[in-house]
Amino acid sequence: MNGSVKKLRFDFAVLTSHVLPMTNISADTPIPFAGDGLDHAEYQRSPEQLQAFMKKTSARAILLHKGRIGIGDGGRPHRIHPADLVGHDLMAPGPVFLGLEGERPIFAFSVANPTAFMPEENFVSLRGIGGNLSPADLALAGRAKSLFAWHHIEKHCVSCGGKTVARDGGIKQKCTGCGAESFPRVSPVAIMLVTDGDRVLLGRGPGWPEGFMSALAGFVSPGETIEEAAQREVLEEAGIKTQNARYVFSQPWPFPAQLMMGFILEAVTTDITLDPKELEDARWFTRDEILAVFEKRGNAFACPPRQTIAHQLLRQWLAETA
Ligand SMILES: [Zn+2]
Repeated sequence: MNGSVKKLRFDFAVLTSHVLPMTNISADTPIPFAGDGLDHAEYQRSPEQLQAFMKKTSARAILLHKGRIGIGDGGRPHRIHPADLVGHDLMAPGPVFLGLEGERPIFAFSVANPTAFMPEENFVSLRGIGGNLSPADLALAGRAKSLFAWHHIEKHCVSCGGKTVARDGGIKQKCTGCGAESFPRVSPVAIMLVTDGDRVLLGRGPGWPEGFMSALAGFVSPGETIEEAAQREVLEEAGIKTQNARYVFSQPWPFPAQLMMGFILEAVTTDITLDPKELEDARWFTRDEILAVFEKRGNAFACPPRQTIAHQLLRQWLAETA
């Protein structure tokens, strides 16, 4: 394992378990955290246009606080008119324009004092409520969370260290020193379902709650393709050689801004040699065992929640091998 390459860690602190029908996700099921339904309006982001959007009667804003989403009545992200934010302390970079929902401009604000709007406990982690939001609300909230995280993390220019300021409604930054422009960072991660006939390899990271198993995953390293990253990570973490890495689908993962790229690979070797720094356990599970877990009549392992791509990859494989 290259020490400079960070590893992905799923946080299983809060889990909700859902059973979904065995359908092909790419055909009729939205990818979690994708499909916000907005026109991102990349060419309607001049200061004048944004002001006009903000003043529209139909405009709405969702609220965040420290990366948590304000949830209102009905369990949806709470929406207020942007004018109702006047006079309140806002976190950098101020209003973020998420896009147009039909004709309705949608903004996001990160508020310094959440209790001015609702009880603080109504600001909820997307990890905890992700499975309960509609696909469009989940995608909208995830996009807002990633954009605010970017502005929070990258306050300074990577070239000269100058202070950066938001442009274009928060989808761009400009350095006040050298003038360089920068754009939201998205890190590609390969996540892999390794198959051996009717078996699938699942693993668990050190310290995960007892019983939880998931697909192996890792960040892409400079100079390699996503397929190479997928095969390298499986070899490094579990000692298994693979072939025919097949891309299935991808998923935005806003913790803070990964693009999870899902693969199904075929095992060439099947003996597991764990890298204990990366994995506490890895095992082969039969299709019957996995199907039983999804249908809640078996407990060979605890399944990742449905808003994770690991869950969706398993579901996809079950559908393909039915
Ligand atoms: Zn600069």
